[in-house]
Amino acid sequence: MFFRFAAVAALCSASLSLMAQTAATVTTVPVAGPVYMLEGSGGNMAVVVGDDGFVLIDAKYANAADAVKQQLAQLKAGAKVNSLINTHFHGDHVSGNAALAAGVPIIASDNTGKRLAQDSKFDRKGLPTDTFSGEKTWQRNGVTMQLITQAPSHTDTDLVVWFKDLNTVHLGDLFFVDRFPFIDLKSGGSVAGYINNIKALLSKMDDKTQIIPGHGALSDKADLQRFLAMIEQTQAQVLLMKQQGLSEDQAVQKGLGKTWQSWSWQFINEEKWIRTLYQGSH
Ligand SMILES: [Zn+2]
Repeated sequence: MFFRFAAVAALCSASLSLMAQTAATVTTVPVAGPVYMLEGSGGNMAVVVGDDGFVLIDAKYANAADAVKQQLAQLKAGAKVNSLINTHFHGDHVSGNAALAAGVPIIASDNTGKRLAQDSKFDRKGLPTDTFSGEKTWQRNGVTMQLITQAPSHTDTDLVVWFKDLNTVHLGDLFFVDRFPFIDLKSGGSVAGYINNIKALLSKMDDKTQIIPGHGALSDKADLQRFLAMIEQTQAQVLLMKQQGLSEDQAVQKGLGKTWQSWSWQFINEEKWIRTLYQGSH
C-alpha cells in the first residue's frame, strides 16, 4: 500500500512539473530607466512604464498574455497599455497583440500590416492600426522611441526601436544571442540583408549600448559583433563548398565543424543553418 501511494505521489509530482513547463513563464529584467525586458514564452518584449501607462514592444504568444499582464501589474499596478509596437510579423512576437493591445494604437511596418491582414487566422483586434515605412518617432512616458524599418533581412517586415536617450535598442529578430539565426527566406528574408543591417546597426552603437535581442539574454555590442562574425565565417564556409561543387545535401553532410556546435538549437540546428546559407548566399 505504501509503495502504491509513493508511486502515485511520484506520478503526481511528475505531471505537476510537466504542467509548470508547459504553462507560459514570463520574467522581467530591468534594462534602462523606465525600460524593461520581458523574457520567456516567445520573442523578448520590451516595456516602457510611466504616467502614460505601458508602451509594449512585441506581444509574445497569445497564451502568454496572462503571464505578461501579471508582470505589468507588478511594474505599475492599475496602469493600462497605451500602445504596442511590433518588430515584425512572426507569431512568437505578435500572437498576443489582441489580448494585450486591442483598442490602442498598434504600430508596425507596412509589410507587417499587410502580412497579418492576409492571415485569416490572425485575430483582427490585434491588427496594426498605424503602419509606415522609413522612420517614425513615438513619445510616451518621457521617452523618445525612434522606429526604423529595415531593408529585408530576418523577413521583409522588420523594424528596430532605438531609445536614443537611454543608449538602448530593441533589435527584434535581427539578433539571436549565441544561436544560429532564423532567416525567413520564404517571407522575403535575405542573408546579405541580414549581414548589412547588423553592420549598419553596429556602427550606431558604443560599448555601453544595451541590446534587447529577439531571442536570448540582454546583450551588448561585443555580443552582436560575435554573432556577426559567426554569420560571416559560416557563410564563407558554405560559399566555398558551393563553389567547390558540393550540392546542398553534401554541404549538410560535410558540416561546419566543431567551432560552431554550441550555436545549434532546437529551432535552427546546424543543418537548417547550412541550408539557409546555401540557398541564401550567392
Ligand atoms: Zn521572427
